[in-house]
Amino acid sequence: MADTPAIRKCETCSRELQHIKGITVINPAGNEESFCYYYCENDNVYYVEVFEDPFLADSVFTSFQKIDSDKAKSDIKLINTCPDNQNKFCNCPVHRSAHRFG
Ligand SMILES: [Zn+2]
Ligand SMILES: [Zn+2]
Repeated sequence: MADTPAIRKCETCSRELQHIKGITVINPAGNEESFCYYYCENDNVYYVEVFEDPFLADSVFTSFQKIDSDKAKSDIKLINTCPDNQNKFCNCPVHRSAHRFG
């Protein structure tokens, strides 16, 4: 899921955003959730795209919004410590922690 990053544009300057990194986790509700981080060099703004695949529903919820830079940087730093970002069953400290991305 979310292997191919979507092309997203900056809400402020409409430039194409740089796809930084993503991670797929199981959230506390037991649903699969993917977070993709994007960055606008022009405005120095971070965005996060969230996909949630609810266990008991057929629809996938998606959201795309600006995120606080410090939060984005700390999330990306954590993602960089995981050896297998898209594996929701990964057993690394980040995946085992209850860290809330996005
Ligand atoms: Zn921009
Ligand atoms: Zn991991």
